[in-house]
Amino acid sequence: MLPDVPAPALRLGLDPDALRSNWQALDRMSGNARAGAAVKADGYGLGARAVVPILHAAGCHDFFVAHWSEAQALLDVAAPGSISVLHGPLTDADVAFAVASGATPVINSLEQARRWVAGGGGRCHLMVDTGMNRLGLPLTELGDESVAALEVDVLLSHLVSAEEDVASNGVQRDRWGQARAAVRHQRGSLANSAGIALGSDYHGDLTRPGIAIYGGVPRTELAGVIRQVVQPQAAILQVRDVTAGETIGYNATFTATEPMRVGTIALGYADGYLRCWSGRGRFHANGQVLPVLGRVSMDMTVIDLSGAPSLREGDWVTADYALPEASAETGLSQYELLTVLGHRFAR
Ligand SMILES: *Cc1c(COP(=O)(O)O)cnc(C)c1O
Repeated sequence: MLPDVPAPALRLGLDPDALRSNWQALDRMSGNARAGAAVKADGYGLGARAVVPILHAAGCHDFFVAHWSEAQALLDVAAPGSISVLHGPLTDADVAFAVASGATPVINSLEQARRWVAGGGGRCHLMVDTGMNRLGLPLTELGDESVAALEVDVLLSHLVSAEEDVASNGVQRDRWGQARAAVRHQRGSLANSAGIALGSDYHGDLTRPGIAIYGGVPRTELAGVIRQVVQPQAAILQVRDVTAGETIGYNATFTATEPMRVGTIALGYADGYLRCWSGRGRFHANGQVLPVLGRVSMDMTVIDLSGAPSLREGDWVTADYALPEASAETGLSQYELLTVLGHRFAR
């Protein structure tokens, strides 16, 4: 018999205290509303099955995923009724799964409303489009009889530009208010992470932060409040000494100008450490900064160990991956920086 699979040489460090503290801060900033949590895309790449119990213990009772498969993956770690599926019931199989599992659909169209009621229906949420033109019913369809037949818990809409101070925020808030007046429902919800900082007019009864729970800072109001949650870490596979004039990695984009010690780590662009970090990323260990040398390859990256010559094969290094700074450095959004992190990380 094979022994257990050895632990991979890369892991995603997750700080549960920071996760909890971020959600609690967003819940406090939501005033009279309660904060839920967007945990789609596997908890923004952190691992939804790890994130949900931590947030639940902190007091979170509303979790939003995009796909039914994501709801299914959470059924044994969250109360089914607390899991909401943003894409809604696209097929009769989705309706059957929702009814059988108890996960809550978000109804996004008259078609979905009819399908839900025909399939047995019951408690659901209703997405109203107030300007995104992506998912949800326009205000003009809210008088339809299939909407009146719904048992709506959360009436939600989604902000286009909450991280900016633009007039469309107020326009969307007012349209959401009109929708709330037109449709019977239990709770109103509009704000994502950035929307929470727009103030109490945007809070309703439930807010839906995502990125800020995981360490993203979409607006300056959140800057002093939100803590870093995620730290990509990789093991050193090999240490070598290179002499002046030698080059490192594909296409020889780095040339040593003096003798130096370098380390090859088990992290590459296939893991989401994209090629934009080539020659500019930084790792750290023992308080020392270890810059990336040359190109990031698919499964490996070479870093400068000159600052930490005691590091050996098998030692671990941590990427500088604070989201606002990493986003400014690479041009990737804070959302992309998290959701690209691949399946080879131990989570
Ligand atoms: C992803 C998502 C959120 C969370 O947005 P953040 O910007 O990550 O806070 C909230 N509501 C809906 C409908 C979403 O799709």
